[in-house]
Amino acid sequence: MTIFSRIIAGEIPCHRVYEDAHVLAFLDIGPLSDGHLLVIPKEAKAQLDQLSDESAAAIGRVLPRLARAVMQATGATAYNILQNNGAAAHQAVMHVHFHIIPKLGSAGLGVGWNAGSLDAARAKELVSRMQAAL
Ligand code: AMP
Repeated sequence: MTIFSRIIAGEIPCHRVYEDAHVLAFLDIGPLSDGHLLVIPKEAKAQLDQLSDESAAAIGRVLPRLARAVMQATGATAYNILQNNGAAAHQAVMHVHFHIIPKLGSAGLGVGWNAGSLDAARAKELVSRMQAAL
């Protein structure tokens, strides 16, 4: 059981901002900037790719509204949504969560973006593999 399941169960306190049948949103205890919010499904799955359509839809429905609330509460006009999957991708808590991280001056998410260039043959192969997997 992860710490987020214990928060959902009410065993551990949180600064709750929003809750419905499928979703809970609360302030991150180690914020990258003021207003850093976590949005989690109540369904206990580690990674996004494991999530049911129902939980995924419930999160998708509420994310824009929560982003607007974060913006209004903090005055931020820019923000990042971050969603890590797997320890190698910086996931520390193995329960699906979306970060809403306001960009407030230099505070917020630092992004390292080492862009390559897309090779046409590789693109064709990837499209066909992904389409076959859908
Ligand atoms: P990630 O690296 O995407 O797994 O991020 C996990 C996030 O959960 C971090 O930003 C932590 O600060 C946050 N976190 C861990 N425990 C708690 C907690 N008890 N309440 C609120 N946020 C937490």
